[in-house]
Amino acid sequence: MSRLDEDLAARLAAIRDAGLHRKLRRLDSPQSPRVIADGQPLLNFSSNDYLGLANEPALKAAAIQAIEQYGAGSGSSRLICGSLAPHQELETLLAEFKGTETALSFSSGYAAAMGTIGSLISKADVVIIDKLVHACIVDSVSYSGAKMRVFAHNDLDDLEQILKWSAERASKENASRTLVVTESIFSMDGDRAPLKEIVELKDRFGAWLMVDEAHGSGLFGPGGRGLAEELGVSDRIEIQMGTLGKSFGASGGFICGSRALVDFLINRARTFIFSTAPVPAVAAAAAAGVRFVMSDEGKKRRETLWTRVGELDSKLKVHAPARLSAIFPIILGDETRAVETSARLRGEGLLVPAIRYPTVARGKARLRVTVTASHTPAEVQTLAQALANCAPAPA
Ligand SMILES: *Cc1c(COP(=O)(O)O)cnc(C)c1O
Repeated sequence: MSRLDEDLAARLAAIRDAGLHRKLRRLDSPQSPRVIADGQPLLNFSSNDYLGLANEPALKAAAIQAIEQYGAGSGSSRLICGSLAPHQELETLLAEFKGTETALSFSSGYAAAMGTIGSLISKADVVIIDKLVHACIVDSVSYSGAKMRVFAHNDLDDLEQILKWSAERASKENASRTLVVTESIFSMDGDRAPLKEIVELKDRFGAWLMVDEAHGSGLFGPGGRGLAEELGVSDRIEIQMGTLGKSFGASGGFICGSRALVDFLINRARTFIFSTAPVPAVAAAAAAGVRFVMSDEGKKRRETLWTRVGELDSKLKVHAPARLSAIFPIILGDETRAVETSARLRGEGLLVPAIRYPTVARGKARLRVTVTASHTPAEVQTLAQALANCAPAPA
């Protein structure tokens, strides 16, 4: 064994002992409610493909057409060899969808967060984040070198205290930037941020707001634009972030906002500048996904999703009334117990992942169930039955 491997073997043993070891499982089918994982057919309740677009004919056709027209590869960063038309078209569409001046796409949501927070914010500044924001936000703030302050999950009083502190500090130290970052729909809990109140607070203290709608875009609001649309606060959010890999069925990330914001990011966001552009096929598929979400068909697909979500919630009772989301956390606490429960469900033909540290806090392990518009009422019923047999009623 090399010295590297010896070192890693010891660390991997510690990960195993803590019940936290993960491994990849091979999938031999497209993303859909029925998958073949390691050769076993499973009913899939684990994906973020909420509208069932990952395997949608319109997206596949758009990707194929883009390959025929623009080739398989993208050649360079978009600032070097020229920016391929499918990326520009995607961004025009995203801006139209979100109703912002303009938009910029990245190779992933992770890269969008890193590039944006990493360039807008520096050491002298303060970033205030909800306790439960996604790892990409936490990593971006660490990378920026800014002071990171965490407010208790969805706790407006706590946020206000920190904003007050930051405003006082800014007036003393001549450091003027404060950025608040939250998700709209939290990825592992499926609950919602009080965006309206957060918008009012950040305005009162002169801070900027970035909202990660990874699990909101495509699903919420009359036009599917996100929770910000539903709550009528879209035009008061400086930075709207999203991913193209969830409801939109492809992959990539984006920022929607003002022309100045996007111009600045093109010039300063390192994950944009120093990374090869996504291939044309993925931009074209994502654009087809956004078009689908904006269409009547997209609206119908959303309605189907919310019907399935309602059916499952009537059994599991996870969500507060009138605050449904497609993410159902079933908190089990102990890591090993979560893994064993997930394995038991797998034995019954159900793919329901155990989510553990570091994705959630230690001792907060859970099953994370996601419903999509492609599930049938019978499949939702099968899941509810299996969960009733093996998991305690959620608290
Ligand atoms: C998935 C996710 C991201 C990252 O997006 P990718 O496109 O997968 O890199 C960011 N924020 C949240 C809340 C997410 O769930």
